[in-house]
Amino acid sequence: MSMNVFQESRRKLTLYYSLIMAAFLIVLIFVVHQSMEWSMESEQARELVETAGRIAGGQEYLLQHPELLDDAEDWRMESDRLFFYVFDMEGEPINFSRASGQLEPFVFDIISRWKAEPGEAAVMTDQKGRRHARVMMTAQPMMADGEQIATVYVGKDVTAMYNGLEKATYSLTGLAVLALAVAAAIGHMLAGEAIVPLVEAYEKQRQFAADASHELRTPLSVVMASADLLDNDPSITSPFLKQVVADVRDEVKKMTKLVSDLLFVARSDNQALKLKTSKVDLAAAADQTIRLMQPLADKKLIMLRREGEGSLTAKLDEQKMKQLLLILVDNAVKYTPENGKVTVRVLSPTAGKIRLEVEDTGIGISKEDKEKIFDRFFRVDKARSREMGGNGLGLAIAQEIVNLHGGTINVESELGKGTKFIVTLKNEKTK
Ligand code: ADP
Repeated sequence: MSMNVFQESRRKLTLYYSLIMAAFLIVLIFVVHQSMEWSMESEQARELVETAGRIAGGQEYLLQHPELLDDAEDWRMESDRLFFYVFDMEGEPINFSRASGQLEPFVFDIISRWKAEPGEAAVMTDQKGRRHARVMMTAQPMMADGEQIATVYVGKDVTAMYNGLEKATYSLTGLAVLALAVAAAIGHMLAGEAIVPLVEAYEKQRQFAADASHELRTPLSVVMASADLLDNDPSITSPFLKQVVADVRDEVKKMTKLVSDLLFVARSDNQALKLKTSKVDLAAAADQTIRLMQPLADKKLIMLRREGEGSLTAKLDEQKMKQLLLILVDNAVKYTPENGKVTVRVLSPTAGKIRLEVEDTGIGISKEDKEKIFDRFFRVDKARSREMGGNGLGLAIAQEIVNLHGGTINVESELGKGTKFIVTLKNEKTK
């Protein structure tokens, strides 16, 4: 369980790191793309406006010398990506160097809609055409005697240029993805390295808890034996001293339970807990637990009963199963007020499945607390639990036992109405 915490942190670290890297790369690619596009565009626009100026000048000259027009039938531009159209004020074409057949409808479409400022160049994308053609266009008025007589539209097919830019961006993105993968792998490695000292420190802590609780057992049993001895000593007659001895025994008993619970938990962390499985009759074990708890239940006038199978044999760890039953039944009796009911059910809903239920009519557990009751040292009401000899480790141990058996433990509860713990286990063929 605890190792998973470290693996989880490592995964999270790697994830966050990768996300930050990805965000950074996306911004980078965007900025590079934008600045490439901007510099390309401004360069092209400058050229186009210059060309437009030259063409306008040439056309003005031609209009003043119409005799030259015949020879100039076929105006060839220096680049076949360039084209121009001269329209008079009525919208009649005067002269042109046509754009390619595919492009021309789009160009006319632009000219018909466009109100260009002189000297402005704009890039338009053909949304309708299949090719997503792009042209850069500029318009230039032609003047004669201070009056506009025509407009020159000059354009350039920049589709290929934009496609090139797109390709460059794609390959940049590819590279970025590759870099991200490498960075994530390195990040994962480094996160693993960073976690090593933490794991070691945690391991030491765990070992300490296990050793400490183990070491405490001997002195505690010595104190217990001594208290027993005093308890049975006839020379102690003072009621006060008798009470002191009884109190000491009580506290030592609680402490012994706490220490052995701690040891269990510490060992489960160390993965030092092993199952000693054998054929166990779970129904009989439940009956035994009930017999053990009967005096406590009687004291509170609680009806403690068992239902379900008369006998259910499975391959389980007997001692741990009894511990589990005891924890659940003990809690049920503890947290059920007088005249309540506690029912233990041993069921076999389907072949190969065991269902163990411990239901009470007690105080119940609120929704928020339901998620926390399996945590170590969690108690809804600390004072009440301690008074009843609880230390908050019971359900943590119960969960550990169920996990060791590869089963699940769940709780259904309603505040003030009662609680039902449900344990499901596999029943492997015992033969
Ligand atoms: P504790 O030693 O305090 O009983 P557990 O781990 O066994 O510790 O239980 C944790 C807490 O869950 C308890 O303090 C109690 O508040 C709550 N709880 C456990 N079983 C029941 C139950 N049957 N009914 C109501 N509350 C319960």
